[in-house]
Amino acid sequence: MPDASTAVLTIDLAAIAENYRILSEQVAPATCGAAVKADAYGLGAATVASVLHRAGCDHFFVATLDEALALRPIVPTAQIYVLNGLPAGAAEAVAAENLIPVLGTLEQIEDWRQHCRTARPKPAALMIDTGMSRLGLSEKDTVRLAGDPALLQGIPIVHAMSHLACSDDEANPMNIRQLTLFRALTERFPWPGGAKPTLSMAASSGCFLGTDYHFDLARPGASLYGLEPMIGRPNPMRPVVALEGKILQIRDVDLGMTVGYGATHQFKGRSRLAVIGVGYADGIFRSLGNRGAVFVAGERAPIVGRISMDLMTADIGHLSLSACRVGDPVEIIGPHQSVDDLARDAGTIGYEILTALGSRYLRRYHAAGPRA
Ligand SMILES: *Cc1c(COP(=O)(O)O)cnc(C)c1O
Repeated sequence: MPDASTAVLTIDLAAIAENYRILSEQVAPATCGAAVKADAYGLGAATVASVLHRAGCDHFFVATLDEALALRPIVPTAQIYVLNGLPAGAAEAVAAENLIPVLGTLEQIEDWRQHCRTARPKPAALMIDTGMSRLGLSEKDTVRLAGDPALLQGIPIVHAMSHLACSDDEANPMNIRQLTLFRALTERFPWPGGAKPTLSMAASSGCFLGTDYHFDLARPGASLYGLEPMIGRPNPMRPVVALEGKILQIRDVDLGMTVGYGATHQFKGRSRLAVIGVGYADGIFRSLGNRGAVFVAGERAPIVGRISMDLMTADIGHLSLSACRVGDPVEIIGPHQSVDDLARDAGTIGYEILTALGSRYLRRYHAAGPRA
């Protein structure tokens, strides 16, 4: 069966556990959680979450209610936060599975308050917007909420968070602006029953911005999966993902011949092509056409021509004939080229590469060991 697959995606679970340990140390004494939304950035939320749970992680962040419901049986006792908020009419389902809705509007807060009044009070979190202008209470609504204790009456608010817009850029003045606003806003609250919630601001990059940004809990995702947290700084994370394609055919080409749709690459002399069995349907971005490279027997082979749905082509004319044979593996992500490298060539970010990884790969998980 493995031979029939044209590409192999290897996910190193031990490296994920090690990255969790590195991040936990980085944010200590704050607690380290984990963002496992979008199927743990495409790597398999069920597998990844149980590895992280064994490594000591007890706080999981997902985007949607469906993701939270799927995760619940995997980590029955952990805190699961639903970042996208409380969908209308979903309070009962959320409460029944002990999920923590991240309430982001006054309407959601009112829905949850009504639920807590009629059923049993259940914990919730708040998202406070400090500059992302994405989800979360506006500054004005936050001030209103802090000034009117009735609005939160009977809701155990266990956590309040905000999200940084520019945390991968240490020098960006937006970071300190958001930090200052988050502090000022959270300090306005007479928290119900005097129970101050735990606070968080740091996703992956925020973990590396200094202790001011750590608060009580961190919410890294990308860095757990090996992506570089800070622009222009060495990546402290262990690589997690490797992707190998396979050579389906090797062909000689002559001066003046072209390759692929649109005939966008023309050979300036005799050369040789490796036809590789992955394409944009597998998450190899079309923007990699005539850009970037793959590695064959450790040697760089430039991508030539457009990426097709199921195929791509690389120039191997400079490699010795014995170095490449039909059936040989081709490194697309691995020791010579990280996810971030590939993303740069594709004109995107590592996050998009990971979450686009295709469903046709043979997936191999390297075990994390009994206790990571
Ligand atoms: C996705 C997300 C995270 C994790 O971000 P990374 O950059 O992947 O570490 C944390 N918090 C919120 C609110 C998010 O949406």
